Amino acid sequence: MTPLLAFFRIRRLFMGYRILIGEIEHEANTFSKVPTTLERFRAGALLLDDEIPSARRGTRTALGAAFEAAEKFGWTLSHPLAASATPGGVVTKETFEQLCAWFLADAEGCDGALINLHGAMVAEGCEDPEGEVLARLRTVLGPGAPIVVTLDLHANVTEKMAANASALIAVRTYPHIDYYERAWQGAELMDRALRGEIRPHTVIAKRPMLRGLNYGRTQSGPMRELLERGDALEASGKALVVSVCAGFTRSDIYDVGPSVTVTADGNTTEAKRIAEEFMDYAWETREFNSDTIISIAEAVERAKAGEGSVGKPLVLADDSDNTGGGAYGDGTNLLRAMIAADLQNAAFHAIFDPAAVQDGIAIGVGSKGRITLGGKHAPEMGGGPLEVEALIVSITDGHFRCNGPSFLGGGAWRSFGPSLMLRVGGIEVVVMSTREQAVDLAQLISVGIDPFHCATIALKSSHHFRAAFEPIAREVIMVDSGGMIGSAASSKAQYHHVRRPIWPLDNI
Ligand SMILES: [Zn+2]
Repeated sequence: MTPLLAFFRIRRLFMGYRILIGEIEHEANTFSKVPTTLERFRAGALLLDDEIPSARRGTRTALGAAFEAAEKFGWTLSHPLAASATPGGVVTKETFEQLCAWFLADAEGCDGALINLHGAMVAEGCEDPEGEVLARLRTVLGPGAPIVVTLDLHANVTEKMAANASALIAVRTYPHIDYYERAWQGAELMDRALRGEIRPHTVIAKRPMLRGLNYGRTQSGPMRELLERGDALEASGKALVVSVCAGFTRSDIYDVGPSVTVTADGNTTEAKRIAEEFMDYAWETREFNSDTIISIAEAVERAKAGEGSVGKPLVLADDSDNTGGGAYGDGTNLLRAMIAADLQNAAFHAIFDPAAVQDGIAIGVGSKGRITLGGKHAPEMGGGPLEVEALIVSITDGHFRCNGPSFLGGGAWRSFGPSLMLRVGGIEVVVMSTREQAVDLAQLISVGIDPFHCATIALKSSHHFRAAFEPIAREVIMVDSGGMIGSAASSKAQYHHVRRPIWPLDNI
């Protein structure tokens, strides 16, 4: 035994186990031309060491659960990094290496790790950054240390991730509102593993599928069915964890696509059989799609017909310019159509355009002026710049406290950078300095929009908005405004690195 190892063993006798907790969250849309840098993480969340407890303790997040679990089980924590950035382009090599350096700096001497990773990050020169992080962590902690990982259900899970983690626990809700519960599940598993009660190992099954499982929608359909079957297997003790991931399709990497991972105690033969059986079902149901997406013209026509409604808004969700899927978030086609239709009592969230925010600040609250919005990143998609005559109603620093339940909901503070709300005719438009999707009512309320009394609310989001906005909506309509993840912009020819053959690119 080395003196260092002897030191750690003796310390454990007096201080309990030392556990590494932390978070690296990013979903890479490899088709985006905007690279994800450290600045993008700073604009999202980039917390180091002592900044983390005050920001995450007491929140219903994965890290919030980890702090509570540490108190319950008497762990000493090492918490070097909590980093998350809005989905966007590939993470630069320097950024990835810096995140790894922070994340692993304190790992030596830890008895285990309970960490939160997205699972669909891509870095320059590395298609599987989460697998790489876990491999490096495994090297530091050694083969016997429990490494328990919570994941987004849009993770593109790899063999390397399954081989280096003891357990992979994907969230089971989309919108994702159960990170806290999943991290607690991981903490219980960690405690059992540390006490030698179980030896968790994880296996994975995949099929030649680019997409499937209804894009991960958990309300009904094959995803819901598999999640329920997984819950039953866990409850019966036949598996420690069953995780079903839909994958993230806007990622041109070899390991893209849905997966099932099963964590077993010791022998993994039965776990492998379960994972394969689940993926057989995912393959059989691959065509299932529960959402209908309509044109801008039809959506605005329906909004116009209901603009006299008071009390419950019609929600128009623009799937194609969803920044949550890595789109640019500055498309203007839908807003242009809403203005042309002279919609009344309507709200629009949002145009990502830091320069337009500064222009609005120059005009000043209470003043009117001409301002050009969005359309800068890819004017050929989603609409080019839109010039409007607007009244600047409010300017904020972008901070708001989440109402929840999505993401960091339940009291956490977030900021989308300098933001403003301007009024064009009967439409209140949010313009912001950070590329983010609409998932929380506070995003509107914080700039002065009352979502409860709008007749129409237009949002840029595929599905996450539903947790907060569906309960207040009289109806939800999905719209394609021509943005980068819409149907017109997506083609088979874009993919060069996915494994082949793969459905639906190939006829199999
Ligand atoms: Zn997700």
